[in-house]
Amino acid sequence: MFLRKLFVAVRAVVIKSLFVFLLFIPGLLPAQQYDLLIKYGHVIDPKNNINAIKDIAVANGKIAKMENDILSSQSKKTVDATGLYVVPGLIDIHTHVFVGSKADKFADGIYSVSPDDFSFKSGVTTVVDAGTSGWRNFPLFKQQVIDKSQTRVLAFINIVGSGMSGKPMQEDINDMNADSAALVAEKYRDIIVGIKIGHYEGSDWTPFNKALDASKKSNTPMFVECHLPQYSLEDQLKKMRPGDIITHSYEQVSERMPVVDEQGKVRPFVLTAQKRGVLFDLGHGGAGFWFSQAVPAFQQGLAPNSFGSDLHRFSMNAGMKSMLNIMSKYMAIGMSIEDVVTRATWNPARSIKREDLGNLSEGAVADITVLSVQNGKFGFIDAGGNKLEGNKKLEAELTIRAGKIVWDLNGLAAQQWKQ
Ligand SMILES: [Zn+2]
Repeated sequence: MFLRKLFVAVRAVVIKSLFVFLLFIPGLLPAQQYDLLIKYGHVIDPKNNINAIKDIAVANGKIAKMENDILSSQSKKTVDATGLYVVPGLIDIHTHVFVGSKADKFADGIYSVSPDDFSFKSGVTTVVDAGTSGWRNFPLFKQQVIDKSQTRVLAFINIVGSGMSGKPMQEDINDMNADSAALVAEKYRDIIVGIKIGHYEGSDWTPFNKALDASKKSNTPMFVECHLPQYSLEDQLKKMRPGDIITHSYEQVSERMPVVDEQGKVRPFVLTAQKRGVLFDLGHGGAGFWFSQAVPAFQQGLAPNSFGSDLHRFSMNAGMKSMLNIMSKYMAIGMSIEDVVTRATWNPARSIKREDLGNLSEGAVADITVLSVQNGKFGFIDAGGNKLEGNKKLEAELTIRAGKIVWDLNGLAAQQWKQ
């Protein structure tokens, strides 16, 4: 018995000494096998049901490990995220980023914005363009913006070949082609995530049906942006399949019936549509979000599935501001931070059928956002200029895209300067 105890003790000392010795011989132990380590942060990873303090290690642009304690000595760089939330890189499924030189246009024009100018500072690592390009000018969009951006840019393509090119082109039924749209979606399968119908002022259902047909042919969701004043909301929702996405969910404008009626009740057919699997994207934009709709809807069980911002030249400086502002707005309305993060990460990833994104599983691309919650007195504005006060506001401290730090608000990952 004594001999056995002695043997165990000696063995422990030998192993420990050997380990210390090996640490000083470079190359013998994988001492710094990780490129980046985020320690002590509160991880919210809805896909994996994680809501706890964890360390996350990144190597070769991917999530290498998530554990309770990972040694700093194993990483080339360590970030202390004490008191901060660590979440998957945010996904904004409603943006207009086909920026170009054309005046008065979204497609290839100045009404769109450049993705990198707005994404990372808001914690966003993936944006989905909502049909600013169509099946005809998508290659130009790809060459001009998508291939040049650090932000991951995905796209719903417009059923109209020329995309959001203004009137009358964007309403030309002859330029709406389900076969062509499905073919382009198939060709760029890694970028195109669905088909959009958005602007049409006629009462003929042909455009809507063509978009639906293209979605079926390409096996992708249809994205409905409601500038379709002659179509009733009920008919639109009835035609949509589970997994199809409606946006501007809480708008109160003349071109579409609002989801909440004059008595403040969510229309039953809207609730039925969401229960059936139709997805409700927020789509804030310049006119798409009103507290008079969103608050009673939230209280009656119609929360948005995703927080698409409808980012474009006009919305960014109005009540919308950024996706983080939308998330903070919902915290002021009463949503928990966990539910807010879900709607900005895993939910949109599932909506666009990109389940490789929006999560922190080992092996997933290391798109990570580190958020702080600021406490104070804040005001949030809707599309009607109404203000809702709140006492918490989210801010992006650190944004990491494929393992690379692309935004660092307060030098969390920077070295201390010494004189
Ligand atoms: Zn839009």
